[in-house]
Amino acid sequence: MNYVEFFKQLSKDDIPIAGGKGANLGELTNAGIPVPPGFVITAGTYQKFITETGIVDQINDMLATLDINNTPELQKVAEDIKQLIVTTDIPDDIQTAIIESYNKLCMDVEKDDVVVAIRSSATAEDLPDASFAGQQDTYLNISGIDDVLTNVRMCWASLFEARAIFYRAENDFDHSKVLIAVVVQQMVNSEKAGVMFTVDPSTGEEEMLIEGAWGLGEGVVSGTVTPDTCRYDKANDEVKSYRINTKKTMFTKDPETGATVQIEVPDDLKDKRVLTDSDLEQLTQLGRKIQKHYGAPMDTEWGIENDKVYMLQARPITTLDNIDVAKNAESLDDDEERVIITRGLGASPGLVSGTVKIIRELDELDKILDGDILVTTMTTPDMVPAMKRANGIVTDEGGVTCHAAIISRELGIPCVAGTGEATTVLEENSKITIDGKKGLVYEGEFGGDKDDVEADETQINVGAAPIVTVTDVKVNVSMAEAAKKAYATGADGVGLLRTEHMMLATGIVPYKFIDEGREDELVQVLVDNILKVVDVFYPKTVWYRTLDAPTDEFKTLEGGENEPDEANPMLGWRGIKRELDQPDILKAEFKAIKKLHEKGYTNIGIMIPLSQSPAELVKAKELCAEVGFIPHKDVDFGMMVEIPAAAILIDEYIAEGIDFVSLGTNDLTQYTLAVDRNNEFVAKHYREEHPAVMALIERTIKHCAAAGVTCSICGQAGSVPHIVEKLVKFGITSVSSNTDAVEEVRKTVARAEKKIMLDAARKQL
Ligand code: PEP
Ligand code: MG
Repeated sequence: MNYVEFFKQLSKDDIPIAGGKGANLGELTNAGIPVPPGFVITAGTYQKFITETGIVDQINDMLATLDINNTPELQKVAEDIKQLIVTTDIPDDIQTAIIESYNKLCMDVEKDDVVVAIRSSATAEDLPDASFAGQQDTYLNISGIDDVLTNVRMCWASLFEARAIFYRAENDFDHSKVLIAVVVQQMVNSEKAGVMFTVDPSTGEEEMLIEGAWGLGEGVVSGTVTPDTCRYDKANDEVKSYRINTKKTMFTKDPETGATVQIEVPDDLKDKRVLTDSDLEQLTQLGRKIQKHYGAPMDTEWGIENDKVYMLQARPITTLDNIDVAKNAESLDDDEERVIITRGLGASPGLVSGTVKIIRELDELDKILDGDILVTTMTTPDMVPAMKRANGIVTDEGGVTCHAAIISRELGIPCVAGTGEATTVLEENSKITIDGKKGLVYEGEFGGDKDDVEADETQINVGAAPIVTVTDVKVNVSMAEAAKKAYATGADGVGLLRTEHMMLATGIVPYKFIDEGREDELVQVLVDNILKVVDVFYPKTVWYRTLDAPTDEFKTLEGGENEPDEANPMLGWRGIKRELDQPDILKAEFKAIKKLHEKGYTNIGIMIPLSQSPAELVKAKELCAEVGFIPHKDVDFGMMVEIPAAAILIDEYIAEGIDFVSLGTNDLTQYTLAVDRNNEFVAKHYREEHPAVMALIERTIKHCAAAGVTCSICGQAGSVPHIVEKLVKFGITSVSSNTDAVEEVRKTVARAEKKIMLDAARKQL
């Protein structure tokens, strides 16, 4: 067995020796395709390394008992194995072979310490059916034998990245059969680079898809940059479309240190077209030649240095067998009937719906449940376990050919890539539908499931579709028993969960629990009741409003004897002002929500009632933090706007930090107009549409919108269609209505939204 083979010695049949990447570089070299010179440290060399040093048994032991779905355990085992590999000495004979080959490469290209790229090249019996995209590492701009040896070991170790272990297990590859070869190849310092599919990888059509960006190819391959996209019609030999995207970052060699760095693309290049006609001519000719040579559609990587195209990798397109004509055909033809939230590139076809889950950090992956839509800046291979659970994937960045998009196609999960904005414009827990062929993201659910998209044709029949609104239509809930009925309205969440009924149903005033050292019981009552609501609505958001009962409602309860006799309880000791006087009740509420979050019900937000000054918000948040539950970090923390003071000071509240606002127009109306909402003598003067009330509402909505703060309404005005129409015009984010009003309100909202769009369109005529 040779420890090392130069490209000339290899062909595409040498995957077991040189891995997919190495074997294909050999094949391309021998076919006369321009490939930078290099050699492969064979898979057998790696095998000899692990057996001769004895570490193979340790690795197998660690993998034998591993539960790949236990993420912390998976990560720990991965780290341990990698550490073992990079700290184990390479046997002398192997080391000598690598040193000699590197020296020969230096001589061949007539350079001392030639700068190389070191890439892992995985082997598996049926490798062509699984691209292993992004599953192993690449090290660029390596020079000198010591660094070469270090990086070779790192490549070996990369076979045991957590995501690689997971991917193999999921695709039933036997870990011990997947060996790794290492490609050591002269570095091309690409001024521009990218990928080329010799047919459309989404549809299999005879149309080349070329993506290119500035600098090294890593940006395109990893999905860090949204590349220019060119579709090339092979039959007519012409560019069918060329889309210039904004390229924000690029990978390049730092002239001082020689290391690969990610830098911002200079302003004059960001929106500049990457591929010239001559580049495209060279690329498409090579594409044809490569496809002809292999007799199969290929997925390639290329780089251009000094106007010369080099091919850096080629492999068969792995997704074409999965292409399902029905899936491709199911894109909507009548976009105008739907509200499109954002657009990107169709990266993996299929029309599916689900709940938006935005992943900003990898440790959030657990929140992706079966059927959710995974939304993230850029999908990375680490996300594969969560991607598998998702019904669809939407990214801000990346092109249709980034490695994660390749995996989503392999997994058969529709994907829209490179929207530029999904993580900011899509709302967590909102319902969306994605068209992975056209690259569109719609408001609402009218698509299918990734497993049976075509089975559910009626879902994509526009006539039969549910009403889709951009503005969420939620429902108010006050009793746990009412949750199911409220849910059945199809509401987008609970915009107000009143706690008074749940707490007072104990028959005991809440502070009696505290006074008697029975706080746990109070917390448990809350947990039990709230659970019934959040469980039904999960994962839709539920905003829990902290206690706001006027003193008269406490009087009849056990322990309520000492409640003060207030002349006007509506103006009395209630809402957040009372809770700050009796902080233990508020803390018990926070503890209950915390417990539910810990059980996985992270869909509950907290909302404080009846605030008149930002200082109350500050104090409430401090109390929440005191129970170990950090507002904004652990839980969304919002407030009701029910007092004119709060509407007037809304900017100060926003500055203090609020995740959302809900207009409590029942109280706002009584306090603005000096009309007791419980007093029948003045009932005829109680008017939510009073211009002063509407002015405060408008102000609150607009100031929130300007600050990007979610603004809703949960007062009765939110169940009154003609008021709701105005709120939509003001820019309200959601409307929370009574159960019976949800359907009507949704229609009103949809009509109002359409009218706004129609008016805007007419203005442009
Ligand atoms: C409101 O004031 O509008 C509100 C929703 O709260 P409540 O009716 O519970 O006072
Ligand atoms: Mg109120």
